[in-house]
Amino acid sequence: MTNNATSTRETMGSMTSRLSMPYTLTAGKAMGTFLAELGAQRIIGSRCAACATVRVPAQDFCGDCGAETGELVAVPSTGELTGWTVTERGILAFVLLDGTDVPLLHRIVDTDVSSLVLGARVSARWAAEPAGNVMDITGFAIDAESTVGALAPTNELLAPIEQLAYRMELTYEHSYGHFYGSLFDSVKNDRRIRGIRCPSCRNVLLPPRGFCDVCFVPTKDWIDIPDTGTVQACSVVHIEFVGQRMTPPYVYAEIVLDGTATRLIHSVGGLSAEEARSGIVKPGSRVKAVWSDRATGSLADIEYFQVIDGSA
Ligand SMILES: [Zn+2]
Ligand SMILES: [Zn+2]
Repeated sequence: MTNNATSTRETMGSMTSRLSMPYTLTAGKAMGTFLAELGAQRIIGSRCAACATVRVPAQDFCGDCGAETGELVAVPSTGELTGWTVTERGILAFVLLDGTDVPLLHRIVDTDVSSLVLGARVSARWAAEPAGNVMDITGFAIDAESTVGALAPTNELLAPIEQLAYRMELTYEHSYGHFYGSLFDSVKNDRRIRGIRCPSCRNVLLPPRGFCDVCFVPTKDWIDIPDTGTVQACSVVHIEFVGQRMTPPYVYAEIVLDGTATRLIHSVGGLSAEEARSGIVKPGSRVKAVWSDRATGSLADIEYFQVIDGSA
């Protein structure tokens, strides 16, 4: 089945993807104490027992010489500006708090960038509601009147915050390009799988691509591919993980659709848990696509592949 006709529809352009990674940060004793004390509007630093370097946030080990921290110290909320950069989301700055040796990276707030000068006096601005993270200081603002403070010993310190919940979110557009776009377009609208043939080795490539990755020649002829194929390799998935769409146990397989020279990774479904575990799906099994009720324009439009008669 060869189809050289070019679709008059616009091919699917891109897919919006989102990475969402929840994880837990273990703060450690010194940093955990720093975070807990921020909630009480106190800034805690550490002094190295070996080289006496004072840094904020407090650290368990010296970033200069590697020695274990000797003591925690109370640090004034005032200091001076030692550098800054303007970003789309505000001004980031290095602030050398009074009595410390290492600048703290934080935000500049309530201040116009034109009024920033190196060495300017700044003081901390505090969040109305502490959240137990570094944004309990909302930022630093120019404070020409502030007097230079001094380090002080700490007495009763709050218990360290041991863990921080954190979620990294990343949204992006994944551009399909012409070949993937055409495949996903015909999958979505016509329930048709289309590959492309290399004019040199005659292999049919799925997903379709602009060049044969064996011969390095431009590909040419679009080919309709049946939704039946043969399992080349398979695994029974037993483990559970975040973001999983299917309930274990289930079968994942490399499937060679009839007439193609490439492998497609998809699930083999329609099985009970016992059947999934039983090895009923094996290399050589014949399978056929079960199409989804939803048309999404992706290979998820095939719900899964089902074992059909004629298996080896
Ligand atoms: Zn040190
Ligand atoms: Zn080729």
